Amino acid sequence: MKFPFHVIPQNNDEVFMLEALKEAWKAFLANEVPIGAVLVKNGGIVAKGFNQVEMLQDATAHAEMLCLTAGEASVGNWRLTDMILYCTMEPCSMCAGAMFLTRIKKLVWGAPDLRHGANGSWVDLFKNRHAIHQIEVQPYVLQEPCALILRDFFQMQRNKKVNQ
Ligand SMILES: [Zn+2]
Repeated sequence: MKFPFHVIPQNNDEVFMLEALKEAWKAFLANEVPIGAVLVKNGGIVAKGFNQVEMLQDATAHAEMLCLTAGEASVGNWRLTDMILYCTMEPCSMCAGAMFLTRIKKLVWGAPDLRHGANGSWVDLFKNRHAIHQIEVQPYVLQEPCALILRDFFQMQRNKKVNQ
């Protein structure tokens, strides 16, 4: 299956969110909930990741976690200061926690996660001032395709169940 979105990025955030969306598409093709992430430093991609919870049978194998871990390995440092993380979905509390621990500079996300979202949908871990680190947040970048790929995925899963 071909990448289904024809998005013409209007700015840098959209350029990298489109790359995160391509990661989400890899998850979609692997029958995983389609969420993707990319980590950017100085305008270049340092690491990528997509959700692999089913593949690894690991509830912590979220796109953001895998992307942050790959980023740490890539630069040989757990501090990801000055880096921007792009995620197709609002991060959960675990991933938000990992963002504070790795000290990323900025988070950009696409579609809200009404169940687990930790930037306002469920809780907001970015609202209160953190003792040692602040993260700049830009929500709702390419929200439509980021939400659509999730809707399509869950629709497909429901159809599979009906046809079984
Ligand atoms: Zn997460």
